[in-house]
Amino acid sequence: MLRTAIAGSLPKPAWLAEPEALWAPWRLEGDDLVRGQRDAALVWIKILEDAGIDTVGEGEQFRDHFVHGFLHKIDGIDWDRKTAMGIRADRYTVEVPTVTEALRRKGSVHGEEARFARAHTDHKLKFTLPGPMTICDTIADAHYGKRADMAMAFAALLNEEARELEAIGVDVIQFDEPAFNVFMDEVKDWGIAALHRAIEGLNCTTAVHICYGYGIEANIAWKKTLGSEWRQYEEIFPALNASRIGQVSLECANSKVPISLIGLLKDKEVMVGAIDVASLEIETPEQVAATIKGAMEFVDPERMLPCTNCGMAPLPRRVAEGKIVALGAGTRLMRKELSGR
Ligand code: ZN
Repeated sequence: MLRTAIAGSLPKPAWLAEPEALWAPWRLEGDDLVRGQRDAALVWIKILEDAGIDTVGEGEQFRDHFVHGFLHKIDGIDWDRKTAMGIRADRYTVEVPTVTEALRRKGSVHGEEARFARAHTDHKLKFTLPGPMTICDTIADAHYGKRADMAMAFAALLNEEARELEAIGVDVIQFDEPAFNVFMDEVKDWGIAALHRAIEGLNCTTAVHICYGYGIEANIAWKKTLGSEWRQYEEIFPALNASRIGQVSLECANSKVPISLIGLLKDKEVMVGAIDVASLEIETPEQVAATIKGAMEFVDPERMLPCTNCGMAPLPRRVAEGKIVALGAGTRLMRKELSGR
């Protein structure tokens, strides 16, 4: 019970990429870059294992961004044709590349990385992929005409990738869908259908991660507009609970999400965010245990996986390490309390 996991991304070591930045430029190139990424992955796997985290990952050390890391290996995208797009319903505007032709996977995207990680841990291994709706909110469309159609095209490619990762021995494949908290009607119209397309034929554990984002300025400003209670989950959790996705990763620690909303996921395994990624303060084990305990009112410990609220890529490495240790220690405290009953 209370098997621990992390949402996904972790900081790049300073010798690999510029620290504390999203889209951080690499500091190595060519073969040195690949070696550096592998070294960084090993460091994080070891830190996660030492902290007692049950399901580990490579911390997304091989990709520069959680969406574009996937898109770089897809044909049909014109990277020189930039379109200004208001991301997440105009939370911020970015010049994004444009889909100009039918999408096709050039080949394996993360296969080598997954094989490397699999060879270096006996723990359960999780691999993250961007969700179809979030991809479509990060790239412009000049080919498909409808967002839902482009999402289905991406979902088919994600499915090819996911099948390959499963064959390599990945235990959990997670789709990151922060856009689910913004386009709640579309989630029900086609977002979950696209996820179902992405997990078609998989036998491994599948997961979706839905959060309020990294602790970057645009997100902090957006959260201020959401009022005293964040109830986005309420609109989408019933549909997710009815879906074929196995696990749902959600934000909990220090967030204004009413904790009772996780009770809507009564048939799912729930990754409860017990680590705030928008704060530089490292949680104490007692704080982590208190968050888990609060969530246990609505999810029993057999179905609960203590986790981080989101990825930790933009955090200082020292802080991310401390938070991982706190997650492990806080969970052990709670397990001890439960076994003493
Ligand atoms: Zn997230």
